[in-house]
Amino acid sequence: MQLSIVIPLLNEAQSIPELQEWIDKVMEKEELSYEVIYIDDGSTDGSWDILSSLSRKRTHIKALRFLSNYGKSQALHAGFRAAQGAVVITMDADLQDSPEEIPALYRMVAQENYDLVSGWKKVRYDSVIAKNIPSKLFNWAARKTSGVQLNDFNCGLKAYRKEVIKNIDVHGEMHRYIPVLAANAGYTNITQKVVQHQARKYGETKFGYDRFIKGFLDLVTIAFISRFGKRPMHLFGTMGFLMFTLGFFIAIYVGGSKLYKMAANLPYNLVTTNPWFYIGLTAMILGSLFFIAGFLGELIIRTGPSQDRYTIADKTPSNS
Ligand code: UDP
Ligand code: MG
Repeated sequence: MQLSIVIPLLNEAQSIPELQEWIDKVMEKEELSYEVIYIDDGSTDGSWDILSSLSRKRTHIKALRFLSNYGKSQALHAGFRAAQGAVVITMDADLQDSPEEIPALYRMVAQENYDLVSGWKKVRYDSVIAKNIPSKLFNWAARKTSGVQLNDFNCGLKAYRKEVIKNIDVHGEMHRYIPVLAANAGYTNITQKVVQHQARKYGETKFGYDRFIKGFLDLVTIAFISRFGKRPMHLFGTMGFLMFTLGFFIAIYVGGSKLYKMAANLPYNLVTTNPWFYIGLTAMILGSLFFIAGFLGELIIRTGPSQDRYTIADKTPSNS
């Protein structure tokens, strides 16, 4: 199998038949063995009936159905698990991504040896206020925190070498940052390709305004994970050490000056009237908490499955 096309969808019944026809029309001209994997992410609009009848007629069309709406990232995860092609292309089901892009994306991975080629909706047909401006901001922040130089991280249209998608763990709402996940796993041969984008033909967007806050939180998480995910104590330990030391010296100063005043028979007050007492106390408590967070982090990564921590690139034949 040379190519898998993975398509997550939620309530896209109107688009599916048109999309599948368009994909078939494009693929007819290519001599490629391919499969199309649809993941129905808990649709309630009859999408599943359409998918099951499509897959009855054509064996290269496969479909999975989630029991409930788990989200686009989970749908991609399931699609990646099922994919058998040497190259895997993802696209949205809503006809905003054009199947005409598939052959060129395929060749960039299969022949030019890229790990990941991300689509770039340079000319974008979405609402300016709700989508275009916020997404520019997100992409800028994602570039800054990850170092991955892409203009459009969240484009649904992307192509991967099979190995890449089998070794990254897309979950939560991390589909926005798959190139960052790939780069963190060591697949750094990443590039982008300008792709055609259409206005949504049927239905409406499945992501409301809460995607701003979720997208921001995921970016913070991914920036943390990529730097300290495998060594949390280095972050929390440093912060804890600095905080605790600061508090400790303040405590010495507060306690020391009181002892000095007592010994020298100078007038003195209770330490609790001195603001520095509270600053020092808080700093020491926070410092200890950071240390505990660091220890817990280290314990947790030691109990997770080990394949989450590294990827083996090669093996000598004697291993198998
Ligand atoms: N989608 C999904 N599960 C969800 C939300 C969306 O599988 O919970 C699919 C949706 O059907 C579409 C793709 O993800 O195929 C992109 O969603 P949408 O077009 O709503 O996002 P937008 O283009 O507005 O960013
Ligand atoms: Mg869309």
